[in-house]
Amino acid sequence: MPHSIITIITLPNHNNTMEDTDILIIGAGAAGLMAARTLAKAGKKVTVLEARDRIGGRIHTLENTSGQQPLELGAEFIHGDLPLTKSLLDEAGIAYEHAGASMWRYEDGEFKQNETFVEHWDAFLNKLGELEQDMSINCFLLREFKGEKYRRLRESVRQFVSGYDNADPKKASSFSLRREWQSEDDGAQYRVAGGYIKLTIFLAGEIVAAGGQIHLNAVVKKIYWQQHCIKVVSSVGCTHSAKQLIVALPLGVLQVNAGDSGAISFIPPIPDHIKAINTLGFGAVIKILLEFDEAFWEDKQTEMLAGKSLSNMGYLFSTEEIPTWWTQAPRHTNMLTGWIGGPEAAEKADTHNTEILRQSLQSLANIFNRGEEQLKQRLVSYHIANWTADEFARGSYAYDTVEANEARFVLSEPIQDTIFFAGEYLYNGTAMGTVEAALDSGLRAAERIKQL
Ligand SMILES: Cc1cc2nc3c(=O)[nH]c(=O)nc-3n(C[C@H](O)[C@H](O)[C@H](O)COP(=O)(O)OP(=O)(O)OC[C@H]3O[C@@H](n4cnc5c(N)ncnc54)[C@H](O)[C@@H]3O)c2cc1C
Repeated sequence: MPHSIITIITLPNHNNTMEDTDILIIGAGAAGLMAARTLAKAGKKVTVLEARDRIGGRIHTLENTSGQQPLELGAEFIHGDLPLTKSLLDEAGIAYEHAGASMWRYEDGEFKQNETFVEHWDAFLNKLGELEQDMSINCFLLREFKGEKYRRLRESVRQFVSGYDNADPKKASSFSLRREWQSEDDGAQYRVAGGYIKLTIFLAGEIVAAGGQIHLNAVVKKIYWQQHCIKVVSSVGCTHSAKQLIVALPLGVLQVNAGDSGAISFIPPIPDHIKAINTLGFGAVIKILLEFDEAFWEDKQTEMLAGKSLSNMGYLFSTEEIPTWWTQAPRHTNMLTGWIGGPEAAEKADTHNTEILRQSLQSLANIFNRGEEQLKQRLVSYHIANWTADEFARGSYAYDTVEANEARFVLSEPIQDTIFFAGEYLYNGTAMGTVEAALDSGLRAAERIKQL
């Protein structure tokens, strides 16, 4: 973490101290920081408790030792012209750059550049548009697009749902995916110059400047509450009391079963909210960042293999073990990012990083017709972010199941004006599972408290 942030964040307090605040916020991800910033600026006394030794949660930027683009282990893109993210970046004076790039598919030994890969896609969208009763996307495909003729379509849709939405096609809502696909804009995508961490540093700076506190290394397990009275004991033994609480934890953490390690207990219990939490879907992902000595996908050997230059390649989709890859285009760097999401990533939650690395190199060796050992020797550095195995995330981001709307409605209502929820999973717009969604939910929880 850069120096500037260390100096503004307080160290955790030690055993048996008691701290009183107006509003306690658990989780210093985008949602928690946005809520804290809004309330602190409105003159409220806020304290944020964060389990990790850093802020940002699923925003996790590392400096790149080679001086190239920073490494984004979590969120990387601004998916479209998202109002809250862009206005905050503008306010903070943080630049963002276009990340538009061409899409390629490696299939049957061939590299194909195409925006629309999937045969029957239009018929699929039309039929989906006529659907009147929600069902899982898997059920929809099996009902409407049976048989060998549509096998590729079914596989492609399932791959897309697992890859992009990180969702289980057997659970993901057809209505929600329809809304996402129908509302896709012109594909405008951006990266934050210097990394997403800049945004979280900006928010943290504003919280502290307005008198708020952020405690790191403060793992919360138990929340005692009654109306307008919250008591939380963090892992360092400090008890925090407050009038209101914003629970800005990842859905994956809230879904841990009572009694299992890492579970959050509410005392007294909040059964309706826990039921709603367990109704929503939470995806799985492994993100792999590989830095090579040179961008071999741009070299002559690749050009000969592909029969064309891949120097403008942004995304590359395949059916390899690690199926999706992207570059830092339009910048030319030596880094490839691998991505596996959905049930396939969940199955690898316990796979050792050395094996994930081997599968990554094997996938690239198959695609680019190189030796796996040769690619290994050309590897300069690597990072593997297995978010499902991360105890303070336990997955990637939320997706809608068929019952999601009802669940979100329950979770959006505070409990006795005392416990509020915030997090990307509570967002109801078209940019689900994003930083925008988290910021939006944090802002809304804070606005509700301001009105009390
Ligand atoms: C690999 C990956 C890639 C992504 N790519 C993009 C992208 O390109 N663009 C985009 O917009 N979004 C992307 N996202 C999604 C985006 O990162 C999230 O939607 C957003 O950051 C979530 O913010 P949040 O505040 O809801 O949750 P989090 O960021 O998870 O914050 C919750 C906080 O709670 C803390 N916490 C957990 N347990 C405890 C505990 N017991 N006690 C105290 N604190 C605790 C966590 O450490 C964390 O800091 C990506 C996510 C992943 C995983």
